Amino acid sequence: MNNVANVLVVEDEPEILELVSTLMRLEGHSVVCASNGEDGLRAFYQRRPDLAILDIGLPGISGFDLCGRIREVSEVPVIFLTALGDETDRVRGLRAGGDDYIVKPFGNDELKARVAAALRRAAMPAVGSARRDFTDGELIMDHRAHTVSVRGTPVSLTPLEYRMLSVLSSHSGQVLSQDRLLDLVWGVDAVEAAPESVRLCISHLRSKIEADPRRPRLVETVRGFGYRYATAA
Ligand code: CA
Repeated sequence: MNNVANVLVVEDEPEILELVSTLMRLEGHSVVCASNGEDGLRAFYQRRPDLAILDIGLPGISGFDLCGRIREVSEVPVIFLTALGDETDRVRGLRAGGDDYIVKPFGNDELKARVAAALRRAAMPAVGSARRDFTDGELIMDHRAHTVSVRGTPVSLTPLEYRMLSVLSSHSGQVLSQDRLLDLVWGVDAVEAAPESVRLCISHLRSKIEADPRRPRLVETVRGFGYRYATAA
């Protein structure tokens, strides 16, 4: 079943804007369009979309910067569109808080599948079914309220970071390899995830939950094996 969503599309090339909006409408989504970053940001505040598709090369503020502004207030999935198929752009996109990255020209089915996957991930924050809340001396995850707090302070995680932390903490003390994490966190979308996604997601997570992200104590790296949530208690 498809999740019907309100989708923001920001793209300065009219043909691509038209193509993406049409595809999204055919999927049953409602669409808000903008052709530059400033209008995109305004539309984001006014319409509060469930997902944003952002071109990177925009007149005025870039897609990366726009994503950064969106991330200040929201955790909705962000998919970047770009003509540059270069690795640096992809890594920059993920680092800017993007969830996925599509290189132009893309196939219609690819775009539809990526959007559906991002909406699916956003709709299921917890992995598996009856996941129990997690708490130790430092971290509290409340899966019903969908909130996380560390050392008494609420932290705001993206859906992907939430899933990552949920998987790691529910396997507390256990080392999980990069491949295992891809399976557990990305699920059926693991094949499409970029190889550096696990490392980047862990690094974002650490910057939000670790007292000193350079010396992580909660999410440890086990060299040559993977990552482990080391329970604080
Ligand atoms: Ca452009």
